[in-house]
Amino acid sequence: MTHVVVLGAYGSAGVAVADELAGEPGVELTLFDGGDPGGGLCILRGCMPSKEVLSAAAHRYGVRHDDRLAGTPPTVDLERVVERKNEQTSNFAAHRRAAVRDIADREGVAFHRTDARLVDDHTVRADGREFEADYVVVATGSVPSVPDLPGIDDVEPLTSADVLDATSLPDSGVVMGFGYVGIELVPYLAEAGVDLTVVEHDPRPLEAAPPAFGDELLEIYREEFGVEVLTETRERRVEPTEEGVRLHVECDGRQRAVEAERLFAFTGRRPNLDGLGLENTALDPGEGWVEPTMQARDDERTFVVGDANGIEPILHVAKEQGFRAADNVLAHRDGRAPLPYENVTHRVMFAALGVYPFARVGHTAASAREAGYDPIEVGRRASDDGVFATKAVPRGLARLVVARDGTVLGYQGLHYHADVMAKTMQVAVEGGTDVRELPDRAYHPTTPEILDGLFRAASRELREA
Ligand SMILES: Cc1cc2nc3c(=O)[nH]c(=O)nc-3n(C[C@H](O)[C@H](O)[C@H](O)COP(=O)(O)OP(=O)(O)OC[C@H]3O[C@@H](n4cnc5c(N)ncnc54)[C@H](O)[C@@H]3O)c2cc1C
Repeated sequence: MTHVVVLGAYGSAGVAVADELAGEPGVELTLFDGGDPGGGLCILRGCMPSKEVLSAAAHRYGVRHDDRLAGTPPTVDLERVVERKNEQTSNFAAHRRAAVRDIADREGVAFHRTDARLVDDHTVRADGREFEADYVVVATGSVPSVPDLPGIDDVEPLTSADVLDATSLPDSGVVMGFGYVGIELVPYLAEAGVDLTVVEHDPRPLEAAPPAFGDELLEIYREEFGVEVLTETRERRVEPTEEGVRLHVECDGRQRAVEAERLFAFTGRRPNLDGLGLENTALDPGEGWVEPTMQARDDERTFVVGDANGIEPILHVAKEQGFRAADNVLAHRDGRAPLPYENVTHRVMFAALGVYPFARVGHTAASAREAGYDPIEVGRRASDDGVFATKAVPRGLARLVVARDGTVLGYQGLHYHADVMAKTMQVAVEGGTDVRELPDRAYHPTTPEILDGLFRAASRELREA
């Protein structure tokens, strides 16, 4: 029997590993997770609750910005928002726990509802017992990463987890961090009545996208949500004041202070490895510590999947890495070569409350060039298609990246329904489709007309090239 231990069975990555290996002939599986109530980040404090609360604010935004509707806009009832969010997440979490129980009922599987730690490379201690493993899978997720800014310990910054549970919010806030968490939660806070200043290090957000996308997002946040965004600005220190906090920042060599009631830290996440006993093992977390096969660089019998490896902390990646790790455990056991986990970039940020989501599938023109292509890039604005105006969502833009032989390489969209269109574009990109073979026929008037416009423009460029 090959004994596989999984640390973090309730998470998306851990449950994927467990589901693949449970009942596999010759495999004995021991699962650990002490999460309370148990259900993993996506369900309890990530994807699902964030979209739940955003949807309430999106409805308010819809009412507020449409001048055909009269009357005072309603306020976001935070008590009700959090109550409904809790109802939903506790249902989803119960479902996840039931799935883990079902896995544990299979032959050769044991589940211990407790956290565990490594006492040497392949020995795990939990509940006062030791478990010897042939393979260890670390799937312990991530925790908010709050920067070591002078004074930060004196001001108790609020993280995404605090915001999702908040039944009251301050009148004003200063925000550090404008990655996907900040981009999603800032309009929620604004719609809930918080007067916000965001500190952004770069000239614009969405650094991996062409600059036009970050510029558009800034315009939307400033004009539609009244958020002040200080770009190319760095935090220097923070201090408590009688009214709240004072954040000292620097821009272009000039110092200034931003005052607000609370500081929000949407400053990313780091692998949850503290207390795992890694110091008792050969593992050395840091740049390159996990191979594309999901094996730890320093121990081929330890696999690290999901947010715990810090490679690409998003849900579908966590799951797919879990499946790949499970396959590779069996490959290693059977003397076959483990395969790398490779994926086509597929990301969605629910910007502007999901009214103007940002989606990216596959290559940007820049990443295509880095990969050795000589791509064609075409663009279109949402305002080019009347349908967006008729739905009162006229902002935004989209780009399509195509190889010289016509193969669709990538799409980026910051516009209404871009999240849904990511699926169509995933099929086009991952299917290696020639743009000239894609049907140029959306039902009129529907928002995918923006994609047809891109396909036509790219086909024209190919003809003329
Ligand atoms: C605000 C927010 C919004 C997000 N929105 C999206 C989104 O819209 N789309 C998307 O794709 N992604 C989103 N994400 C990211 C997504 O939630 C994560 O990438 C994903 O949930 C990570 O799954 P995981 O299995 O790696 O970790 P987790 O789900 O965190 O699982 C880790 C598990 O390990 C357990 N554990 C910890 N320590 C131990 C131990 N010592 N022993 C045993 N068990 C242990 C924990 O209890 C937990 O159950 C969001 C994240 C946040 C914070």
